[in-house]
Amino acid sequence: MGTDCLFCRIVAGEIPATIVRETATTLAFRDIDPKAPTHVLVIPKEHYADVATLAQGDPGLAGEVLATAATVAEDEGLLADGFRLMFNTGAYAGQEVFHVHAHVFGGAPLGPMLC
Ligand code: ADP
Repeated sequence: MGTDCLFCRIVAGEIPATIVRETATTLAFRDIDPKAPTHVLVIPKEHYADVATLAQGDPGLAGEVLATAATVAEDEGLLADGFRLMFNTGAYAGQEVFHVHAHVFGGAPLGPMLC
């Protein structure tokens, strides 16, 4: 995708981000506008627009995104009290950045819904 995609540019190191974990295929970094005490985004380095496209196009990579999210949750100390993993997908869900990303929320009670 390259220069048109904000998260591809973070992967390329062209835009700064606070990276908390990196694997060969995934990247996790803090959300620039956190909605919870812990708010980390986990992405595949390869560009997929949303989680449906990723899961259908490369289920193994989708699993690697989930595994990185679980490790981030553990590293951030979220496993004991729980956390939320969320993929906004498409316009009705309010997806704004069309490079698939898992939101990892935690660090406080989150309530029934977090937008
Ligand atoms: P929404 O904004 O409705 O949550 P998305 O699910 O597409 O839509 O989430 C995009 C997320 O990316 C937002 O939480 C936003 O704060 C975050 N974000 C935007 N730009 C950056 C950036 N440069 N670095 C880190 N996070 C970013």
